[in-house]
Amino acid sequence: MRSLYAVLLFCVFSALADPLVIRAPRVLDGRGHLLRNAAVVVDGTKIVAIDEHPKHVDIDLHDATLMPGAIDTHTHIGWHFDTSGKSAPGEADSKEPPAEMALYAAENAYRTLMGGVTTVQSLGAPIDKTLRDAIARGTLPGPRILTALEPIADEKMTVEQLRAHVDRMADEGADVIKVFASQSIRTGGGPTMSQEQMDAICGEAKKRGLRVAVHAHGPESVTRAVRAGCTSIEHGVLISQTELDLMAEHGTYFDPNTDLIFRNYFENKSHFLGTDGYTEEGFAAMEKAVPRVLDVFQKALRTKNLKVVFGTDALAGSHGRNLQELAYRVRKGGQDPMAAINSATSLAAESLGIGDRVGSIAPNYEADLIAVAGDPLRDIGALERVVFVMKGGRIYKR
Ligand SMILES: [Zn+2]
Repeated sequence: MRSLYAVLLFCVFSALADPLVIRAPRVLDGRGHLLRNAAVVVDGTKIVAIDEHPKHVDIDLHDATLMPGAIDTHTHIGWHFDTSGKSAPGEADSKEPPAEMALYAAENAYRTLMGGVTTVQSLGAPIDKTLRDAIARGTLPGPRILTALEPIADEKMTVEQLRAHVDRMADEGADVIKVFASQSIRTGGGPTMSQEQMDAICGEAKKRGLRVAVHAHGPESVTRAVRAGCTSIEHGVLISQTELDLMAEHGTYFDPNTDLIFRNYFENKSHFLGTDGYTEEGFAAMEKAVPRVLDVFQKALRTKNLKVVFGTDALAGSHGRNLQELAYRVRKGGQDPMAAINSATSLAAESLGIGDRVGSIAPNYEADLIAVAGDPLRDIGALERVVFVMKGGRIYKR
């Protein structure tokens, strides 16, 4: 009996130790290459090889397409509808019991991962840090999380106060700084932070080795952020070709949230209306923004050297549906499917400063892999049919 246990244990351990060979009829590497009938070899947490002529296969994905796990550069991973059905962003002054808030955040993380997103940047809330660290411990299923912790939103802050906030975020373990440089589109989107303020934020962040993601809607706020050397522009609903060219010239990443954010608001209007910042007038302004956003997105695609990344602004109601945004960008926006997929994998990783370890299928990269039923290059809707999810070499969905 004892020897039988020994044999079983040996089998278990050798199975764990053996590299895993995962084959698919189509493998997209996240950098624009399509390999046919290839296999990705995973050892432990890492990809070790791409085998174009696999002899032995452990997991055959049959008609699915294998690609890197998606990366959403703009989410609010803790934002949820609370027990009364109302929008709850999970801010520090929330009256919600912390345990409830935490479990909703964990549910969002699970949905996001099952939806094929293996890394998110959350822009941001205090709960993000607890959730990020809990997932990183390896038991709770969820995407890798990068977080801004507490965004900067108060334009009355002096440059000294802004620098101090950046320093405090860096000390508390933020992965990125988030700043609101303009109003919400629901209140007109006008500029809030001055050039001096933006210089202080982005200058201090650079000193501390942090990127800065800037919420900015109009020409003034976008121009100030780009001139201050910030990393990415989020939204940009009211900008023109001039600002798109400026971003391209400075290598500023552009994350236009084109569809999911608005559609989710409209679908869940009653859950948002009456909560802080959500009025009928605000909803009317968002309805008007939709065609405008599409126009900016299409101009952005045509702008030479502009790096357009995938971000959804996922909040309550949209977690797990992230890849619907990419489908819209292809179907309505006319983006090339391969370019869209790259924008959510290798380019998104590059924009987050982690492009050397996630976002591509290549040796030494984290084994963050998903498979979708069908061929997303022919039918982008395939991205909504996630049939396999692996993060860091561990299978979460099969
Ligand atoms: Zn946001």
